[in-house]
Amino acid sequence: MSTEANNIRDIHWLMDMYRTIDVGVTAIDRNYNIQTWNNFMQNHSGLNSAEVVGKNIFTSFPEIPQAWFERKIESVLALQNQAYSTWRQRPHLFKFPNYRPISGTSEFMYQNVTFIPLLSADTSISHIGINVFDVTEIAVSELNLEIVNNKLSTLSRTDGLTQLNNRAYWEECLIKEINRNSRSQEPVSLLIFDIDHFKNVNDTYGHTFGDEVLRHTSAILKNNIRDVDIAGRYGGEEFGVILFGADTKGAMVFAERLRQNIEKHTVTSSGHSLNFTISIGIAELTNSIKDHKTWIECADKALYASKEAGRNRTTVFQ
Ligand code: GH3
Ligand code: MG
Ligand code: MG
Repeated sequence: MSTEANNIRDIHWLMDMYRTIDVGVTAIDRNYNIQTWNNFMQNHSGLNSAEVVGKNIFTSFPEIPQAWFERKIESVLALQNQAYSTWRQRPHLFKFPNYRPISGTSEFMYQNVTFIPLLSADTSISHIGINVFDVTEIAVSELNLEIVNNKLSTLSRTDGLTQLNNRAYWEECLIKEINRNSRSQEPVSLLIFDIDHFKNVNDTYGHTFGDEVLRHTSAILKNNIRDVDIAGRYGGEEFGVILFGADTKGAMVFAERLRQNIEKHTVTSSGHSLNFTISIGIAELTNSIKDHKTWIECADKALYASKEAGRNRTTVFQ
């Protein structure tokens, strides 16, 4: 075969591959008019070449954000370099439906897109090639993994019975607060409370009812704190709250409201009804408290004083 015949054959092969490759291949001119449209683009858009070639890309695909797209193209033209858009930055350029059953959780095809400067015969750049890669399966599995990881991370810091922060995570927050507070002047108080005569509750009504009392206690606690405060289950029937922006006076107001709400509340479950109380200790963070253990000890001492003084009361650490 002559060289010319070889060349023609090569061009035919390339054209076949261009048409059938499982990647979207299209190109636009400087006026954003579509120049070419391969099978992938036809199959996924439902529009054949005759319907889009020569047409403006924004008219044919109004989902393309014009300002963003023009910036991308201008940078390709100016720098004469490829540019990219990943599914994380923009889930898709063309809003193609997703047909893949395995990744059926997504309505649209996730796409990675490459923008390529195309050299003309005179070496100027007058056209931009656009390759569209279907990355739906990767994107969906990465997103699912993120959902599972988030769930796991929530589970690992949550107490199963009360759905409050567990002790390990809550203590971590306390340590963070000590470190942060050394740089700020905002007051912050630690409140610890313990259910009064809880052993009696278990002994009289059974452990299951005791668990119900713990759930009610944490529900009331959650209803009383602000979003910024951090509550946790510190031990069996001991709870802790970090009260941000609260000096002892502010913490006292919060504590008394919580204590009274619990005192007023009746737990009714498995045929039993019970009113119960809590004892509270408060310690505001001061310069003399250097670590979280000392902070807890201070609040604990105040809590012990509440117990000693007859329970169902709040004491501030002096
Ligand atoms: P005080 O007023 O002095 O606090 O008396 P108390 O009876 O509450 O004494 P204490 O705080 O020592 O009692 C803790 C009890 O809490 C003992 C334990 O059996 C019970 N407890 C700890 N964790 C759980 C739990 O998850 N569920 C139930 N039902 N009981 C628990
Ligand atoms: Mg206790
Ligand atoms: Mg107790």
